[in-house]
Amino acid sequence: MLAAGAASAPASAQGSLVMYCGVQEEWCRAMSTTFEKETGIKVAMTRKSAGEVYAQLRAEASNPRGDIWWGGTGDPHLQAAEEGLTLEYESPANKDLQDWALSQWKAAKQRSIGIYAGALGFGYNTEQIKAKGIPEPKCWADLLNPKLRDDVQVADPNSSGTAYNLLATVVQLMGEDKGFDYLKALHKNVSQYTKSGAAPAKAASLGETAVGIVFIHDAVVFAVQGDPIRAVAPCEGTGYEIGSMSIVKGARNLENAKKFYDWALTPAAQALGAAAKSYQVPSNKNSPVPPQAPKMNEMKLIDYDFVKYGSSAERTRLLTKWDKEVKALP
Ligand code: PLP
Repeated sequence: MLAAGAASAPASAQGSLVMYCGVQEEWCRAMSTTFEKETGIKVAMTRKSAGEVYAQLRAEASNPRGDIWWGGTGDPHLQAAEEGLTLEYESPANKDLQDWALSQWKAAKQRSIGIYAGALGFGYNTEQIKAKGIPEPKCWADLLNPKLRDDVQVADPNSSGTAYNLLATVVQLMGEDKGFDYLKALHKNVSQYTKSGAAPAKAASLGETAVGIVFIHDAVVFAVQGDPIRAVAPCEGTGYEIGSMSIVKGARNLENAKKFYDWALTPAAQALGAAAKSYQVPSNKNSPVPPQAPKMNEMKLIDYDFVKYGSSAERTRLLTKWDKEVKALP
């Protein structure tokens, strides 16, 4: 896929690539530096949460500055696709991808593709829970325990793809009215809504909060390194994400964006995730699944309606409602 001899060519000859990256900083850096090393294409990478990248693409629509949006939950990628902020593309690597990755591509009318999958849940600090003398939380309902007052962290769904995934999951799992009742009750226990989705996992691993609502793989990162955090797939069932990639419409470095896109779907590039301690399930059928990756086939997963919850109208409506009915509460 990459031109022979590209690695030895000077970066200036190969041009550049502006990458908006939606996963953890360490994985973002591994992707940008490895691609740069292999191709000579100079990468300018910024890490941002999914809702923030979407907002940036909108703000830059008349004068696009980004070329590729790699990573982050699928819903805002779908909204960007619907609003014409991203570009149709069919990679030769499509034939090697899991069905769920291609379903994102079809839902986005070819403007976005699945690069990894991960389920939503939470992580709790085992020492904090023991100190509170409460049973270990196993279910969404357990997070409403009054003894967890001001001891739950989750991100703000406006900025964070993780937290929007929670909002959409709860609405699908419980129904909209009960789902919002749940989020309002949860609000009493939330000490702060963070900007980035994975931040509550780190806080729970350090004991700065008893519970962090995050993608399960984001809690596993800290459990694997021996921190007192346990990752939970909630007993009632849970939602999941199809982490995605899209090419920016009007990209100034379009050919390089396509090169990156094809490369990012290869097993070698996808293996950089686990090497950077990110344990999602990769989308290429030939990519090894990290042994630490949460076993999604053993969880009770909802049939997440990506088309509906990634639509511009629904995402905008739910976020406005959450701002008004949940975040505005004392
Ligand atoms: N970090 C990792 C490892 C992820 O898989 C994801 C979601 O795709 C995120 C972060 C999401 O970040 P945010 O919720 O800040 O948009």
